[in-house]
Amino acid sequence: MNPLYSALPTTIFDIMSGLARETGAVNLGQGFPEDDGPLDVREAAAAAILAGPNQYPPMRGLPALREAVAEHYGRLGGVSLDWRTEITITSGATEAIAAALLAVVSPGDEVVVFEPMYDAYAPLIRRAGGTPTAVRLVPPMWTATDDQIAAAFTPRTRAVVLNTPLNPTASVFDDAMLARIAHLCVAHDVIAISDEVWEHVVLDGAQHQSMLSAPGMRDRTIKIGSAGKIFGMTGWKVGFVCAAPALTEAVARAHQFLTFTTPPHLQSAVAFGLGKDAAHFDAMREGYGRSKARLELGLAAEGFVTLPCAGTYFLNIDLVGSGIALADAEFALRAVKEAGVAVIPLSAFYEHAGEGRFVRLCFAKRDETLDRGIEALAKARGLFA
Ligand code: GLN
Repeated sequence: MNPLYSALPTTIFDIMSGLARETGAVNLGQGFPEDDGPLDVREAAAAAILAGPNQYPPMRGLPALREAVAEHYGRLGGVSLDWRTEITITSGATEAIAAALLAVVSPGDEVVVFEPMYDAYAPLIRRAGGTPTAVRLVPPMWTATDDQIAAAFTPRTRAVVLNTPLNPTASVFDDAMLARIAHLCVAHDVIAISDEVWEHVVLDGAQHQSMLSAPGMRDRTIKIGSAGKIFGMTGWKVGFVCAAPALTEAVARAHQFLTFTTPPHLQSAVAFGLGKDAAHFDAMREGYGRSKARLELGLAAEGFVTLPCAGTYFLNIDLVGSGIALADAEFALRAVKEAGVAVIPLSAFYEHAGEGRFVRLCFAKRDETLDRGIEALAKARGLFA
């Protein structure tokens, strides 16, 4: 058995959702919306299943979806893409990340990452033969200085993986941060794998900037998007890879041996959904903004201190600031068992000992679920503070 994988723990998301199911706890852990996504998009998928075809679509994705991705980003993301040569459809963004890493990283290469980082990055980098080199982001704003980022780049650095808006910190890399990373990528001839799946979930006036638009990065960025996040349908697993033609060629070669294709009906329904007007996405953000405010206010009233949230549908509690002396992982285990609420400890997003004082809550939930979550967290605070 390959020790790289057999030694890995099960992802924290699956563990916490499993515990929530077993105990009947309110699940604010694994990130997924409680509502089931736009009805018209689901109807489009259902109609496509009945109408067919139900056979392999083209390896790089249905032309209609690739055109829709290019149109969508041209209209709403300020990025111009050629659908014929610059877009590949994958079975979710995690496959896109795997394909991008396999396409770019060779044994012995180093890959710069920013901690805390999504838990799939480091194992996938290692599987591609690379070594992750972490830049630690500093709370509460989760940024790093030029010197801190530059220290992670060496002559062996081949790629950098970044995520903005950033899961789990709920922060957004601003233009200055992107320019800092871009400058180093250009200077060291490095490819950026830019996980932008949260691009539409920006809150409180924050703006998403794509790494594709950062200075000098158009031909050295692999941008990754996700229909699951754009429409709040996380089970669909439809991802998009956008990159200059040579990078797209390489990523498509990796994708063809991972999943080869993605269900055609989901692809055509996503193509339909991406055509929605800006008002649809504004309304989605407004809805998430209301839920965030409800959770923030409810938690503040119970004595919790939370961190700023400019993007993603996650809000982080500062346990120390909230008067709770438990480490985050212990708090998470005890909260689900003793207080009836599942949360995600941020230490799960670090390779080695990380910040042990924050837990992540998903607020993409109905009001009554958020209220039950707040009540259970208040109980936890009563037990542990
Ligand atoms: N992206 C989801 C989260 O951050 C989890 C996805 C998964 O369970 N693998 O919660």
